[in-house]
Amino acid sequence: MTGRRTVIRGGLVLDAEGRASLRDVLIEDGRILAIDSPGFEVSDDANVLSAADRLMIPGLISAHTHSHGALNRGAVDDKVSLEMFLTGAGASTRSRGLDDKYLSAALSAAEMIRKGCTACFDLSVEFPQASREGISAVARAYRDAGMRAVVAPMIADRTIYQALPGLLDALPVELRSQCAGLAAAPIEQTLSACQDILANWEFDRRWIRPALGPTIPLHCSDEFLTGCADLAREHDVPLQTHLAESRAQAAIGLARYGKSLVGHLEQLGFLSERLSAAHAIWLDDDDIARLGQSGVRVAHNPSSNLRLGSGVAPVRNMLENGIVVGVGTDASNTSDGQNMFEATRLASYLSRIDGFATDAWLSAGDAFHLATEGSAKVLGFEKIGRLAPGYEADIVFLRLDSPHFVPLRAPLIQMVFGENGASVRTVMIGGRIVFHDGKLLTLDERLLRRQAQQAASRLDQANAETYASAATVARLVGTFCAAQGCTGHALPRKLTLASEG
Ligand SMILES: [Zn+2]
Repeated sequence: MTGRRTVIRGGLVLDAEGRASLRDVLIEDGRILAIDSPGFEVSDDANVLSAADRLMIPGLISAHTHSHGALNRGAVDDKVSLEMFLTGAGASTRSRGLDDKYLSAALSAAEMIRKGCTACFDLSVEFPQASREGISAVARAYRDAGMRAVVAPMIADRTIYQALPGLLDALPVELRSQCAGLAAAPIEQTLSACQDILANWEFDRRWIRPALGPTIPLHCSDEFLTGCADLAREHDVPLQTHLAESRAQAAIGLARYGKSLVGHLEQLGFLSERLSAAHAIWLDDDDIARLGQSGVRVAHNPSSNLRLGSGVAPVRNMLENGIVVGVGTDASNTSDGQNMFEATRLASYLSRIDGFATDAWLSAGDAFHLATEGSAKVLGFEKIGRLAPGYEADIVFLRLDSPHFVPLRAPLIQMVFGENGASVRTVMIGGRIVFHDGKLLTLDERLLRRQAQQAASRLDQANAETYASAATVARLVGTFCAAQGCTGHALPRKLTLASEG
């Protein structure tokens, strides 16, 4: 499509204010050149596409996911909290070769595209440590899928046993020495791998960009966090971390640092506009104000927060403090599906559990804005997330004959609250059609499926022993973390009569 013009005629186009109107859209070199009244004149050589009976929306943008999770679908037990999940996480990515890393990212990209997501921020972990080859394999999968992505190695220099003081002592003696003996890759080794990744980025940054993902503050020493921040500044790339995702993290952070996790990061000089915080649930007002003042962005992941019982992020409070918030799905093994329509709807619905002050609720339009323009800012892409001249032609075409659009009165509300991705008819990214009429045009999904099943059997067998011991430890870790007390926002809530105070 490069160098050629395409005009899309007859579609109902959703604008940045959430209004849908019949408009024609002219695209050149993958970008939107003009949006105007139906039938506006274009040169004869323009390719013409019909969008009759379609609602055209900007592609949804996932502000937080992990491509390594796709190959692990179905491997996470039902009732598993965050720390229980993390205890088994090491086992889940062991024994993977470069082909597996590519495959997992391709599976992840295929799911996102099918569900109307055209760009994502991916924190990708490798066992035993990050590598340029591994991150390149992930980036290649996004390139082949035709998606935009920010790809960050997810890194740490502490194991969960070193991250959570007191945890080892809470384990039975026979497990203690085994867990104490585990170690993350040495700091210098990991930071030099990151330097290698950032200095030798071979992908077109209009599409795929690098970043760094020091995974969880408690899992990173001060020296490690500072090293990541220095590298990010040197190479002008974003940083993303999982911040105060669980009550245990917040409580242990307070005990470990004598201040909140946000206070600790601030003291290290780690808070900046370069940083985005995934989850950001267990924060107090002071934390939120500091994040707002320092320009930190937030990736809100309602599906994963519910699946792992992590809690409810105080999004309205964040917005009132000027924080840019995007919406993410988290990985397909922590929310069982990378459905940005679902995450967007939940972002709105969850904002309503605080009470009847309806002005404080996130409207359908608010949630959609977060899942498009908010997420775009988390990724650091300037010109995605909106259908307007000058923006990339990342467009999702929804069928308007789907039940929730009939009769059609309020396209935005009917889409945000009713759509589950099943109406996605066509997906265009940078002016290129990557999905149409049920078929992904960039990747061979039948082949991916066959490879995924084979890889799952091979990896499950190779990791069986590690999985089994991780499962035993995970239950103990869950019990330990459940006992960590901390007040703040989020679930659980106690139902009492008003008269009981
Ligand atoms: Zn995550």
